[in-house]
Amino acid sequence: MSVFDELAGQDAVVSQLRSAVAGSMTHAWLFTGPPGSGRSVAARAFAAALLCEFGGCGVCPSCRQVRAGTHADLLLVRPEGLSYGVKQTRDLVLRAAGAPAGGRWLVVLFEDADRCTEQAANALLKAIEEPAPRTVWLLCAPSPEDLVTTIRSRCRVMTLRVPPSSAVASVLVQRDGIDPDRALAAARAAQGHIGRARRLATDPSAAARRAAVLSVPVQATSLGPALAAAAALVKTAEDEAKSVTEQLDEPEKEALRKAFGEGSTGKGVAKAMRGMAGALKDLEDRQKSRATRVKRDTLDGALLDLAAFYRDVLIVQLGADVELANADQDSDLRRIASGSTPEATLRRIQAVMRCRERLTLNVAPLLAVEEMTISLC
Ligand SMILES: [Zn+2]
Repeated sequence: MSVFDELAGQDAVVSQLRSAVAGSMTHAWLFTGPPGSGRSVAARAFAAALLCEFGGCGVCPSCRQVRAGTHADLLLVRPEGLSYGVKQTRDLVLRAAGAPAGGRWLVVLFEDADRCTEQAANALLKAIEEPAPRTVWLLCAPSPEDLVTTIRSRCRVMTLRVPPSSAVASVLVQRDGIDPDRALAAARAAQGHIGRARRLATDPSAAARRAAVLSVPVQATSLGPALAAAAALVKTAEDEAKSVTEQLDEPEKEALRKAFGEGSTGKGVAKAMRGMAGALKDLEDRQKSRATRVKRDTLDGALLDLAAFYRDVLIVQLGADVELANADQDSDLRRIASGSTPEATLRRIQAVMRCRERLTLNVAPLLAVEEMTISLC
């Protein structure tokens, strides 16, 4: 077993990371790849390998702490709002300048580094230009172009590709004991995104939500049903986002209350309780802003599923020999393919992409999605 097992179909990247662990170290790395290619999974595995005595065995306490995000020498940065500000970055840079608590390295893993504001990027640049001797920066972004040139030119870039479904399926079979047919269907539906594939194969409610998204093309036939489909799509994404954030929120609050010693008595308790109220308010603000981001990301994921469905329709219409993402929706696919033209399908894909773009411009989700479903008719 190794921490790199999770990285399905990324042999070239894994061999470079392994040799870096063995010796040739660089202080700044940039993991890029499209959504679902596993860039943060790769960065996390690399962090584990750097901090593990055995090069990333996957089972020792250090490896387990990295997986849980609790390792003392791992600073895990995940922008919780829509952007990452300069104050947060300065705090981070200060912490990153320290020495590791126990091991060889202090690893800073910065997910979604493309969400840095411009001033935050400047603060980050300084830290990467003059790294502390035992600090390693791991940045993740969709593509190198998402970071300013000055930062990306100082990083060693690891480019991940979307792994083939068969590679994802074999990880699900071997690591999660999922039945091969179900694993392959889930891997195809998740288009290479291993976490999503695992959820689809193991969580019935995730599978039900995907089915709801994919029923949109069948429903959107005239104005009334198109509007209803839009409302359902937005609600589905909101429900999914809510279930994700609820699982995170309560344990965080619980941990905070414990840290402030809630329930204890004695000297200083009243003062500590006042401090806790402020910290709790801070945490709630961050959770709220995270909820907004998760909601937006979830809706975007649903739209990508929808685009993939129409891509499949186009493949059927053109008779191309390409693997279908939604082979399990075969009858719907073929019905829609035979009832329309490739030009119409392309127009629909464009409508989905335009909707995604409008959402990044902060158009109200329901409005943007309604406009899209009407174009799908
Ligand atoms: Zn280990």
